[in-house]
Amino acid sequence: MKALVKYGMGENDIELRDIPEPIPKPNEVKVKVEATGICGTDLYGYSAIKPPVVLGHETAGIVVEVGEEVKDIRIGDRVTTETTAYICGKCRYCQNKEYNLCEYRKGLGSSVNGAFAEYFVIRKESIHQIPSHLDFISASLFEPLSCATHSVMEQANLLKGEVALILGPGPFGLLIAQVAQALGARVIIVGIEGDEKRLSLAKNLGIDLIFKIEKKDLEEDLSNIIIDNDIDVVFECSGSITAIKYGLKMIRKGGRFIQAGIVRVPIELDFNELLFNKELLLIGSRTQKPSSWDKAIQLVDKGKVNLGKLVSDVLPLSDWKEGFKKAKEKNSIKVVLQTENIK
Ligand SMILES: [Zn+2]
Ligand SMILES: [Zn+2]
Repeated sequence: MKALVKYGMGENDIELRDIPEPIPKPNEVKVKVEATGICGTDLYGYSAIKPPVVLGHETAGIVVEVGEEVKDIRIGDRVTTETTAYICGKCRYCQNKEYNLCEYRKGLGSSVNGAFAEYFVIRKESIHQIPSHLDFISASLFEPLSCATHSVMEQANLLKGEVALILGPGPFGLLIAQVAQALGARVIIVGIEGDEKRLSLAKNLGIDLIFKIEKKDLEEDLSNIIIDNDIDVVFECSGSITAIKYGLKMIRKGGRFIQAGIVRVPIELDFNELLFNKELLLIGSRTQKPSSWDKAIQLVDKGKVNLGKLVSDVLPLSDWKEGFKKAKEKNSIKVVLQTENIK
């Protein structure tokens, strides 16, 4: 079958190869891929990716085969999947279903062959049925949406009426904004030059307040930016050090700062200012766990989150190069690859 293989740690060490179709183990499900979204972690050298491996972890498809121990999932089911492919099952985190923290966890599309392919296999516990009204392209966004419910509902414990400042209007920031809004928070989303298309989508999604700020203002003159609210919670989704410092300046004393984006370089912080003078809570957020998926599916079921509107481009898997190029541009939002009719 055709599969997009990352064969080295370099950004461009990726090619479409012919590899054998995977065979499900007794506790696994084999899925025919319909749609798989491109994630930032697919684009750049991400430390958790262990080449050679088939990329792709934001996916939806149809079950075509089940192992003998699989009882409640049937051939023909429309499904999406958690990215957890292997866990130790013994550590304190596994006991608590916090698989995202298990030291021995292996992830789909990072250390186990993923879903930029015609088929993949995954443990039955990771499979979720897709709500019947939802198409495969939208359903491929359940994984990033689950990362967003983890950040907003499980890590920040965002409350109704609180003011949430979201830095970075990429796909993840826009999902966090929708979850925050669904909880009844007042949502402010901030982007910089080049983010116009993403900010206009934020407007279209009904986000309360939208700001575009100049890069120079981020670093220098904060007085130019009038946000007439006490910021209770900051979700930093860009991974940019400038944005982190900006968020830490804007947040109220005693607020919660959630680092939701991946920061690729070490950062120097003034702990006395942040933790003593401002009494901030600095909170991490790493991917998702089973409870985050349950929350994500409930939100979509209730129509509180729109996944399809985030998809700006749909291409066949064979055009992955073009898809990856688009995913790096700010004029695209979510780019999804379809595995139909591969040649
Ligand atoms: Zn991802
Ligand atoms: Zn474990």
